[in-house]
Amino acid sequence: MIPALMPTYNRADLAFERGDGAYVWTEDGRRFLDFGSGIATTSLGHAHPHLVKTIAEQAAKVMHVSNLYRVPQAEKLAARHVANSFADSVFFCNSGAEANEGMIKAVRKYHAENGHPEKYRMICFEGAFHGRTLATLSATGNEKYLAGFGPPVDGFDHVPFGNMNAVRDAITPATAGILIEPIQGEGGVRPADLRFLKDLRAVCDEFGLLLALDEVQTGMGRSGKLWAHEWAGIEPDVMSSAKGIGGGFPLGAVLAREAVAKHLKPGTHGTTYGGGPLACSAGNAVLDVVLADGFLAGVDRVARYLWKGLEALAARHPHVAEGVQGAGLLVGLKLRPEVSNSEMQAACVAEGLLTVAAGMNVLRVAPPLIVTEAQVDEALALMDRACTKLTPAKSPALAK
Ligand SMILES: *Cc1c(COP(=O)(O)O)cnc(C)c1O
Repeated sequence: MIPALMPTYNRADLAFERGDGAYVWTEDGRRFLDFGSGIATTSLGHAHPHLVKTIAEQAAKVMHVSNLYRVPQAEKLAARHVANSFADSVFFCNSGAEANEGMIKAVRKYHAENGHPEKYRMICFEGAFHGRTLATLSATGNEKYLAGFGPPVDGFDHVPFGNMNAVRDAITPATAGILIEPIQGEGGVRPADLRFLKDLRAVCDEFGLLLALDEVQTGMGRSGKLWAHEWAGIEPDVMSSAKGIGGGFPLGAVLAREAVAKHLKPGTHGTTYGGGPLACSAGNAVLDVVLADGFLAGVDRVARYLWKGLEALAARHPHVAEGVQGAGLLVGLKLRPEVSNSEMQAACVAEGLLTVAAGMNVLRVAPPLIVTEAQVDEALALMDRACTKLTPAKSPALAK
C-alpha cells in the first residue's frame, strides 16, 4: 500500500527531533554531526538563537499579508541585498526552482521588451541542476528527470560544462542568455573554471546576451564570499538564490540589474507567499550574521582547513577517495568507482556524520557556515573511520 506521504524520496530511516548548531539529535536520542545542512540550506546551523528569536517574534506579530500591501521586512531585505551585490532590484519567492522560473522569465521579457521576442532560448550546461518545475527541469536537461513528463519546455540548449567553443557554436539569433551554476552542486560539486566564467561574461557582452547565474546552492556565503561569482571578478545580469538565504526557512530570490528588473512591471510576475514578513525576517536574520565583520573571512578560513583535511583523508584512503573538488564549504569528495557515494554516505551515518550524495559519484560535504575547526576535526575522524571500513581489505564485498 502506498504511504500516506507520497514516496518521491528514498529516505534514510532517521527522524530528527532537535538540533543545536552543527549537531542534530534523532527522536531516539542519537547525535549526528550535520555536514549536509539539509542540502546546503541551514546556513546558520540548527536553532541559531538570533534566527529562532527573529522568526518567533515575527510569527507572533504578523505572518502573512500578501503582496497587495507593502512588506517592510521585504523592503529592508531587498535594500540590503542590493547594497551587497551587483543587483539593483530583488524579487522574493519561496524556493530555488521558483527563483529560476522567475529568472528565466526575466531574461525572456528583457529581450521581448527590447524588440526581440524571437530571443527566448538559453544556453545551459550538461550536468546542471535548476529545479523540478517543468521549465527548470528542461533547463536541467537530465533525461532521467524528464522521462514521463511530456514534451520538455522549449528554449534550452545544452552544451558541455566548461567548453567555450561549444558555447559559441550554440549561439543563434534566438539565444537570449546563458544559464549556469558557478559550481554545479547536484551535478557533482563541480566548479566552473574562473576563466570560463569570465569568458561567459565576455561572450554575453559581445552578443548582447544576459548572463543568468543560478546561485541557489553556491550563494549566501557558502563559497567563502557572499556570492560565488565574486571569485571570478564578474557580475551577472540576473541571479537566483534560495537554499541558505533563509537559513532553513523557505525563501528564494531573483536579483537583477535595473535593465532586466524594470520590465517585470505589475501583473507580469507574482507569488502569494513570496516575500512575506516571516520569510523576509528570517532572511534579514541570516544577513545579520553573514554580513557581520569577519564572518565570511571565518568561513573562508575554516573552509581551507576542511579542504586540507579532506585532501589528507583522500591521500590516506586511496581505495575510497580520488580527490577533493568544490569551493568554500561546498566540497565534494570524489570517490573511486568501486565505492558508491550512497555506500560512503551510509558508512558516515553509521559513524554519526551526515553528508549528501551528489552526481558523478561524489560525496557532498556542506557543513553549516558556523562550523568550527574542532567540528571539522571531528567530522574528519568520523570519515576516516568510515573510509577504513570501506577499504577492500576490510570489506569482502569490495575485495571481489
Ligand atoms: C536546489 C537547487 C535548485 C532547486 O531548489 P528548490 O528549492 O529545491 O526548488 C535549483 N538550482 C540549484 C543550483 C540547486 O542547488
